Amino acid sequence: MLNIAFGQSKYFVDNLSENTKRGLRQKLRRGEWPGWAPVGYLNDKLEHIVVSDAERSPLIRKLFERYATGKHSLKDIQNIANSIGLFSRSGKVLSVSLIQNILSNPFYYGVFKYNGELYEAKHEPIITKKLFDSVQKVMANKSRPKSQHKIVEYPYRGIFLCAECGCAITSETQKGHHYYRCTKKRGACSQKYVREEALTEQINDVIQKVSLPPSWADNMLAKIEEDREQEAQDGTLFAQNLKSEISEIIEKLEKLLDAHLDGVISKEEYASKKQKLLNRKIEISEKLSDFEKKGNYWLEPMRLFILDSKQAKIIASKENLSEKSDFLKKIGSNPLLRDRAVSVLWQNPWKILADFPMPVAIGDDNFASCSEWLPSLDAFRTPVWKQIIQEFEWLKLPIATPIPATSA
Ligand SMILES: [Zn+2]
Repeated sequence: MLNIAFGQSKYFVDNLSENTKRGLRQKLRRGEWPGWAPVGYLNDKLEHIVVSDAERSPLIRKLFERYATGKHSLKDIQNIANSIGLFSRSGKVLSVSLIQNILSNPFYYGVFKYNGELYEAKHEPIITKKLFDSVQKVMANKSRPKSQHKIVEYPYRGIFLCAECGCAITSETQKGHHYYRCTKKRGACSQKYVREEALTEQINDVIQKVSLPPSWADNMLAKIEEDREQEAQDGTLFAQNLKSEISEIIEKLEKLLDAHLDGVISKEEYASKKQKLLNRKIEISEKLSDFEKKGNYWLEPMRLFILDSKQAKIIASKENLSEKSDFLKKIGSNPLLRDRAVSVLWQNPWKILADFPMPVAIGDDNFASCSEWLPSLDAFRTPVWKQIIQEFEWLKLPIATPIPATSA
C-alpha cells in the first residue's frame, strides 16, 4: 500500500514538473520572457508578461544613441544616465557593468536568449537592430587594448593585409616618418616597409578611380529627382520582395524546428541557425518598415552614392589622411599590399564606377559637354543596383561631408 501511495505521489511530482516545463516552452514559443524584466521594461504581474516601462524606455534609448556616437566611454554613459534620471527600480545609480550589460543586451531590439537559444520576443523593442549593431561596433573598438605610451596616429593602420602571407599590416615611426609593414606573424614573408607618403599617393589614385566629374554628378542628381515618381511604383515591388523574404524565413524557421524535433540536427546547430535566421528576419523587417516610412528605397542611397563619388576627387586632393582612409574602407574591401603596391577589391556599386569606361577628358569643362554621363547613370539604374542596395554596406558608414552643389 505504502509503495503504491509513494509511487503515486512521485508520479504527481513528475507530472507537475512536466507541466511546468511545457508551460515554460509554450511561453518561450510565444516570445514571452520568463524572467525579471531588464531596466526599461516592467513585469506585468497579472498577465505574466514583460511590458515596456513608459518612463524609462526613452531614457534607455538615449543611452544607446549616445554611446553609438562613439564619443563617450561607459563611465560617461553612467553620468548621462544619472543626469537624465535613469536609475534602477530600487532607485540606485546604474553601475558601469550594468550599463555595459544593457548596451549589449539584444532584448532591447526585440529578441532574447534563453538556455542558449534565441527567441523573437513579443515585447515592444526599444531600439532598432541597426542601432544595436552600431553600439556593438563602438564597444568592440573601445575594448581593443591601446598602447600605453604616447598615441601616434597612423591613418592607414588596420586597413591593409599583406598579399603575400595574409598577415595584418602594422605601422611604426622611424626618423619622423611613418612606415607600414607586414607583421609576419605567420612566419617567413619577403615583403618590405612602405612609407606613408608612397601609400598616400597610391590611395589617391584608387580614390580617383571612383570620382565622378562634378558636372556629371549634377546631371545625374537632377535625373534622379525625375525618377522619384516612377519609382514609387517599383517600390511596391520592393516591399513585396521583402515581405516574401520574411515569409520564407518564417517557413525556414519552422522546418528548422521540425528538423531539430525529429533529431536531425543537434540543439547547438539548431540554436545557431535559428539565431542567424531570426536576426536576418529582424533586419529585413526593419528595412521594410524603414521603406514604408520613407519610400523611394533606392533613390536616396543612390543620391548619397553620387554625392560621395563627387567628393572623391576632393578627398584625394586634400591633406587629410584619415578622410582618405575612411573613403578607402568605403569603396573597397580587403585592400592588399604587395611589393609596396596597393590593390583593392572593389565593392559594388563602386565597382561599376571603377569599371566604367570614362572618356578621356581634360578638365571638367570637357566632361560638361560630354553626353556619356547618361549611360553611366543607366549602369547604376539597372536591377543590379536594386540588388546591391539590399545588401548595401557602405550606407552604414559615415557619409563624406557634403560640398555645396555647383551650379549647372
Ligand atoms: Zn607578409
